Amino acid sequence: MSAILTEVSEIAGELSRIPHLQLLANEPLSRHTRFALGGPARWLADATTPLALQQALAALRHHADPWLLIGGGTNLIVADGGFDGVVLRYRGAELQQDQNEITAGSGADLEALVDSSVAAGLGGLECLKRIPGWVGAAIYGNAGAYGQQVSDRLTRVTFHDGEQIREWSRQECQFRYRASRFKEHRGWVILSASFALTPGDRSALAAQAEEIRAIRDEKFPPTLRCAGSIFKNLIHAALPAATQSRVPSRMIKGGKVPAAWFLEQVGAKGFSRGGIRVADYHANLIYNAGDGRAGELIQLLDELKRRVQAEFNFTLEEEVQYVGFANRVSY
Ligand SMILES: Cc1cc2nc3c(=O)[nH]c(=O)nc-3n(C[C@H](O)[C@H](O)[C@H](O)COP(=O)(O)OP(=O)(O)OC[C@H]3O[C@@H](n4cnc5c(N)ncnc54)[C@H](O)[C@@H]3O)c2cc1C
Repeated sequence: MSAILTEVSEIAGELSRIPHLQLLANEPLSRHTRFALGGPARWLADATTPLALQQALAALRHHADPWLLIGGGTNLIVADGGFDGVVLRYRGAELQQDQNEITAGSGADLEALVDSSVAAGLGGLECLKRIPGWVGAAIYGNAGAYGQQVSDRLTRVTFHDGEQIREWSRQECQFRYRASRFKEHRGWVILSASFALTPGDRSALAAQAEEIRAIRDEKFPPTLRCAGSIFKNLIHAALPAATQSRVPSRMIKGGKVPAAWFLEQVGAKGFSRGGIRVADYHANLIYNAGDGRAGELIQLLDELKRRVQAEFNFTLEEEVQYVGFANRVSY
C-alpha cells in the first residue's frame, strides 16, 4: 500500500510540472459525476491542450500507479471509497465551423456541439439534443437517440494512443450500436472530431431540437442525479425460449426489449435502498434522491438483477461503467 502511495506521489510531482494541466488532490468524484455518488480521486488531472495531455500520458506510462480516463461523468458509478490513483480528463472544448463542417474538441459538451450546429442551420446532430456528457465519450460509446447517432455525420477523429496522436476515418472507428473501436482500447484519448453536416432550415432544426428537449427533460429532469438508463436493453432472440414467449409483441422494437419491461414485472418501480430510488414512472431509471451512497446503489442493483434472474432466467447487464470497485468489472 505504501509503495503505491509513493508511486502516486511521484506521479503527482511530475504531473504538477506540466503546463496547462490542473491537478487536484483528494477531489470528491461525487462533484464530477451526474449520480453525485462516490469517494475521492487521489488525483484529478485536467489537461486543456493536446500537448498537456501527451505529457500526462507519457508520465503515466512511466509509473505503475492506476489511472483512468473520464469525461463528463454522466455514465459512471464511483465506489464510496473513490479511486486511489489518477483520474484524467481532456478538456479541450473548442468548436470550429468551416462551411458545412464542425470540428469539436472532445472536452466540449455534446449539447454545445448540437446547439452550435442548429444555430448554424446545419442538420444531422439535432436529435442528440440533451444527451448529457462530452463529445469524446459520445464517440467512444456511439451515443444516440431518436434515430440519430453521433457517428452518423462523423468524418474523422483525432486521438492519442498513448504513444502518438493519430487520426481515424469514420470507417476505421468501426461504430456499432453504443460501441466503437475505442472501447477495445481503453486509455486511448479522443481529442477532437469533425462532422459533415447538411444545410437546412434553421428554425425547423431548432424546433425539432426543442421538441426533443421537452420530451427528454420530462423523462430525465436536468437536475436528476442519475446515469440515464442503468441496464442494457435485451435482444429478444437471445433470451431463453420460455422468456421470449412471455414478452408481449408490443414491447419488441427492432428486435429489442426494454430492460424496463422486465424490471417492471419484478416490482422495480418505486423500489428504494437508503437514498437510492427507482423512478415511479420508469423502472430502468435509478437516481440518487440526495444523500444516497454507492453501496446502497449496488445493493439495489444486485437485488433487481436477482429478481429478474429468478423470474426470467437471464442476467441483466449494466449500461453504466463502474469505477473503483474491487468486486465488479470496473476500473
Ligand atoms: C439523464 C441521462 C440520459 C442519457 N441518455 C442517453 C441517450 O439517450 N443516449 C445515449 O447514448 N446515452 C445516454 N446517456 C448516457 C451518457 O450520456 C453517455 O454515455 C455519454 O456519452 C457519456 O458521456 P460522459 O462525458 O459523461 O462520459 P463518462 O461517463 O465520463 O465516461 C464514459 C466513458 O467514456 C470514456 N471517455 C471519456 N472521455 C473520453 C475520451 N476523450 N476519449 C476516449 N474515451 C473517453 C471513459 O473512459 C468512459 O469509459 C444518458 C445519461 C444520462 C445521465
